[in-house]
Amino acid sequence: MRKFFVAGNWKMNKTIAEAQALMEAMLPQLAGIDNVDIGVAPPYLALPAMVERCRGAGVKVGAQNLFWEASGAYTGEVAAPMVAEICEFVIVGHSERRKFFGETDETVNQRLKAALAAGLEVIVCVGETLEENEAGLTAAVVTRQLTEGLAGITEAQAAKITIAYEPVWAIGTGRAATPEDANRVHRDVIRPLLRQQFGDARAEQMRIQYGGSVTPDNAAELFAMSDIDGALVGGASLKAESFIAIVKAASLVAIIEQETKK
Ligand code: PEP
Repeated sequence: MRKFFVAGNWKMNKTIAEAQALMEAMLPQLAGIDNVDIGVAPPYLALPAMVERCRGAGVKVGAQNLFWEASGAYTGEVAAPMVAEICEFVIVGHSERRKFFGETDETVNQRLKAALAAGLEVIVCVGETLEENEAGLTAAVVTRQLTEGLAGITEAQAAKITIAYEPVWAIGTGRAATPEDANRVHRDVIRPLLRQQFGDARAEQMRIQYGGSVTPDNAAELFAMSDIDGALVGGASLKAESFIAIVKAASLVAIIEQETKK
């Protein structure tokens, strides 16, 4: 059984003081939930404070991006060894990076390799746009993004990778994919690709998060699907109450699944 992984992507939100307040509100309620991996990805500047506060609290702290070169004249960029010095994970290939900052499948792959070389766990985001979805291209787009994004990655390295399927049309829109539609992409497109590249055993262990308007109202239904192994949460991760409720939904579904397997 795969352990759920619920991660909050705070995007360009929260000053250090605001991040501290949010974490103070969340930690007491997250304490003791050990059947779900929990992560937050605050803006870079809040990372040191969040890492310090989350030490020993069962919450992983990650960055939202990194650059593939290890050092040098790249004004404004942050390198993988710098992130790895304090963080456990990093997100690469988020659709906002692709849309606003020219991220391509090739640069996703470069960032992924740099992150893995630095010892980080990585969430690799994929997902189709509304136009691609309406043109029936979801499987083709996700296949291309994964094939190129994961090019050259070995079975051993894949142990540190989580895939986040985030249909672009569902991000920040309040219009989540139905659990069935999301699961179809996870089960029939993404997991088979992982099997092909990494073999059955590794593919079965790898977690595939769903992302796109996950809220306390739809989380449990999503988590109950066979191949949805957690969530990458944007908007609802900015408030303690909603993020906690989503984590608790994952925890409850995990308990139910454990019980029914007995
Ligand atoms: C995201 O940006 O990763 C995301 C899923 O955002 P939201 O939950 O706000 O749709």
